[in-house]
Amino acid sequence: MPEGPSILFLKNKLQRYKGKTVSEASGYGEMDKSQINNIKLLDIETYGKNLLFVFKDFFVGVHLGLFGSMLVNKRKKVNASFALHFASDEINFYVAKTKFYEGKPTDHFNFKTDILKPEFDEDFVLNELQNKHAEEMIGDVLMDQHLFAGVGNIIRIEALYHAKIHPESIVKAIPEKKLIFLLKMIVDYAEEFLNLLKTDGVKEAALIYGKKICPKDKTELIIEEMGKVKRKTYVCKKCQKLFT
Ligand SMILES: [Zn+2]
Repeated sequence: MPEGPSILFLKNKLQRYKGKTVSEASGYGEMDKSQINNIKLLDIETYGKNLLFVFKDFFVGVHLGLFGSMLVNKRKKVNASFALHFASDEINFYVAKTKFYEGKPTDHFNFKTDILKPEFDEDFVLNELQNKHAEEMIGDVLMDQHLFAGVGNIIRIEALYHAKIHPESIVKAIPEKKLIFLLKMIVDYAEEFLNLLKTDGVKEAALIYGKKICPKDKTELIIEEMGKVKRKTYVCKKCQKLFT
């Protein structure tokens, strides 16, 4: 599944279309596309795992979900769920969900929670974490896209390992210093993830995601679905402390 950095990577590939005129939009998705007709694409933005195509009074959010993909000037045999057409170019999305939004992205999304944005606000997120998610497992909260926009399973697993926190730890039991360090690890790792995408090296460079033993102490990792999110989780019992 694409995580925040993968979406930012796609956005960076599309920069040449900024300021270009979209002749029409197509695709079998149900979203109303009638307003996207000979209209200038003002900007391409992201919020977490959403790719945003910004027009004058509205924007379109594209979410790739678990199986979505994007092709530029190429087509798959199956129909695109959403496509933007330019004079001689096209951007095609497959198995993607699209949503029409009135207004600007900042009217709908809080950029303070986007782990890949300069606006990411550590104090804001820490406060929300401690006040609204105190009783939850940290491994679950990290997948909450309203608070950690852009975090996916790889970022979640690797950041918790770097911060030496067991994913089943309860937020209120984790020392504040540790939480602050975890937030830093998330942001740092997301940036590293983005760089690794250039060489397609994310999975090889991961320390425990997709691995069987801890690189530090050679302990066999616990690999199972944990918490409410039911995502495959990797943990080193020796390195990662359980706070309860
Ligand atoms: Zn270990």
